[in-house]
Amino acid sequence: MVNVKGLGWDADTVGELDHRLLKAPHVKLRSFSEGEKGDVVYCVDLRINRPNTNYLSTTELHSVEHFLLAGFRKYLPDNFLSVGIMGCQTGFYLVLLNEGNAQRISGVYKNILNDMLDAKEVPYASIRECGNYKNHSLELAQNVARKVLDAESNWLHVV
Ligand SMILES: [Zn+2]
Repeated sequence: MVNVKGLGWDADTVGELDHRLLKAPHVKLRSFSEGEKGDVVYCVDLRINRPNTNYLSTTELHSVEHFLLAGFRKYLPDNFLSVGIMGCQTGFYLVLLNEGNAQRISGVYKNILNDMLDAKEVPYASIRECGNYKNHSLELAQNVARKVLDAESNWLHVV
């Protein structure tokens, strides 16, 4: 059985919430699914902007997505399943296998964002590896990373 509180999440914020109440940037457990053998898939929202206020550009979303993909592969190779952009352009969906600890996930997220600030290029931004390889900006991605890092103390305060 998954103990949401024991994993460091506010149990009241798991699941779908009224988007008018959401603060951001935040890190929020959206859902989890336990398989028959006890493996657990965790879906986590990495919300960057408050809903219905302002939106990440497709370039910002795309380049940050590439960094998240590279970063979670690097730091959680046994747990990382996928990361994708939210269609509303306010954040990202992260999917992990057997890693649902709020502090662990936030710590890795912080490492990835800090790595972004030191990066010299956007990962996988070549014509071989990306479906829109010209639509990238290291500088815009770093600006997003800086903004999210500045709000780190509030990441787990979702509402
Ligand atoms: Zn791409």
